[in-house]
Amino acid sequence: ESKKIKNSAHIFANAMQEGFLKNVHIEQELRKAMAHHELFMVYQPQMDVEGSVYGVEALIRWNSSHLGLVPPNDFIPLAEASGLMPKIGRFIVETVCLEMQALHQILQHPFQVSINISVRQFMDAGFLEHLLQTIEQTQMRSLSITLEVTENLFIEDVHSLLPLLKQIKAMGIQISMDDFGTGYSSLSMLRKLPIDELKIDKSFVDEMFEDDAAQKMVQNIIAIGKNFGMHIVAEGVETKEQKELLSLFGCDRFQGYYFAKPLPKEDLLKFLQENSFTCNV
Ligand code: C2E
Ligand code: CA
Ligand code: CA
Ligand code: CA
Repeated sequence: ESKKIKNSAHIFANAMQEGFLKNVHIEQELRKAMAHHELFMVYQPQMDVEGSVYGVEALIRWNSSHLGLVPPNDFIPLAEASGLMPKIGRFIVETVCLEMQALHQILQHPFQVSINISVRQFMDAGFLEHLLQTIEQTQMRSLSITLEVTENLFIEDVHSLLPLLKQIKAMGIQISMDDFGTGYSSLSMLRKLPIDELKIDKSFVDEMFEDDAAQKMVQNIIAIGKNFGMHIVAEGVETKEQKELLSLFGCDRFQGYYFAKPLPKEDLLKFLQENSFTCNV
């Protein structure tokens, strides 16, 4: 029996070691990824109730020559932990502004783009300055930019956060709260902070039909957001039934494979040329 325990402890230690080594390896590759042009952005269309595209969410992709396609959920946390995130974050902001400004020119209309900003990125001292500088250099309209932040940002010092958010808002940039309901949120924060949009996490949308509690969460998030005058986006919408129930509950924005997957910029251009889109900025 004790040998068995010893063995499993050994196996566990090996697995830990392997996990550790794997992460070290990914981190080394990630350091080279930017120089080797292995990182790029894809854009997932976001729809309004009428079925028009009102915006897109920018999502990062890493096509590593050694590791293949690495999902962002695997490398973003590593980038955060290893201090690479500010650099990758600047790459994201610059690429999105350049590419979307180019699409605005081709389509002759600006549209919304949401950029995911991690807590670390947001709290970085140079973040706002770099964002404003990039907006100026690319001639992107700040009105068409939305920053997606997670609730966990709001467990940081709210007193230092509020002036920063107000500065961002004053520029005309919108704030969206991502994955709402999965982290640490408090209603009093929603009241104090200038938030334009709540995003319902995919996990709630997934379980809405099977799990009564998930359905109630969805209904409550929509009710809270609407009471505060915010837009509500449901993410991970995969079926017509989900879209219809969400609309019935009062959700006004939708994103998911039912409408479109995240698309490379060339495919996004085609999608926007073939679908009606709202020029809301
Ligand atoms: P998120 O911000 O919650 O993004 C939504 C994720 O759901 C994306 O995964 C998207 O591709 C996926 N998705 C959207 N619709 C559907 C659907 O109908 N079905 C399914 N199965 N999935 C759907 P992705 O691109 O793998 O990104 C995962 C997470 O990585 C993101 O979650 C975000 O937290 C992070 N991430 C991605 N890109 C960036 C970025 O540019 N910057 C930062 N800081 N984080 C990013
Ligand atoms: Ca997001
Ligand atoms: Ca999300
Ligand atoms: Ca999510």
